[in-house]
Amino acid sequence: MALLGLAFGSFAGAMVWRLRARQLVEDKRLGIKLTKHEKNELKQLIPLAKTTLQTDRSRCLHCGHILSWYDLLPLLSWISTGGRCRYCKKPIGWFELVIELGVAISFATLALVWGSNSILSGEMMLFVFWAIAIVLMAIVFAYDIKWLLIPSIVMYPLIVASMIIAAAKVLQAGGGFDSISAIFWSVVVFSGIYLALYLYSRWRFGYEGTWVGFGDVELGLALGLLLGNWQLSLLALFLANLLGILVIFPSLVTKKRSMKAHVPFGPLMIVGFAISLLWGESIIDWYLGLSSFIA
Ligand SMILES: [Zn+2]
Repeated sequence: MALLGLAFGSFAGAMVWRLRARQLVEDKRLGIKLTKHEKNELKQLIPLAKTTLQTDRSRCLHCGHILSWYDLLPLLSWISTGGRCRYCKKPIGWFELVIELGVAISFATLALVWGSNSILSGEMMLFVFWAIAIVLMAIVFAYDIKWLLIPSIVMYPLIVASMIIAAAKVLQAGGGFDSISAIFWSVVVFSGIYLALYLYSRWRFGYEGTWVGFGDVELGLALGLLLGNWQLSLLALFLANLLGILVIFPSLVTKKRSMKAHVPFGPLMIVGFAISLLWGESIIDWYLGLSSFIA
């Protein structure tokens, strides 16, 4: 599963650049003014936007050299060249490597949590949908960190995969009202609060002045469906905000960032989600134990 994760992580990294290329072409077509930096980016990425699926080849973003199969081996190619392009020797950056390792670790964790004793066909399907959700989350994670945006084209399949996983959970529980309401309240907490903030700030300050991006609302919907428990969702949201404060606090103090600066919140939500999914119940038990101890 870890090896498979490396391969899918490599795919996710390639998708991120292609999505960015398409986004810039689309922005330009719609007449949105690109910054100087974005114009340079577009010039660099344009070969990725022009290709169809059949002619799509991976290439170096610096020299444009079309890459061979031995340049595209996840992890190994990166290590063999020390993170540089084999042809122009320019650094590729840590980005690709981090995505590959991130998806590999997530896939391995998924397999460990899942266990080997549930190879029933229905379970196997769910396992595949979780794996798909991980790859899509990796794309959202990387894209939001790099460009402070969550592309909807990735969010829609992620929401669909999350709905299928949530529906399966309801069916497994016998389809009772309790299991449906658990998922409903989980979504209300993870997505509803941000939806309210989004709608209010959009009404009050207009499209440019929203406090949260709509992508965060969509991501909250998917993650809320996947957690299916409002307490876990609340914990995930709390952790995301806590991490956000820890991440931006140093730069606020040194005035490198203003209070109005944009922070990529999607990655923080995903980290909060992962912690809550894996250890949430123990954290909540510990917390509730703590408060009864004090009382
Ligand atoms: Zn190159």
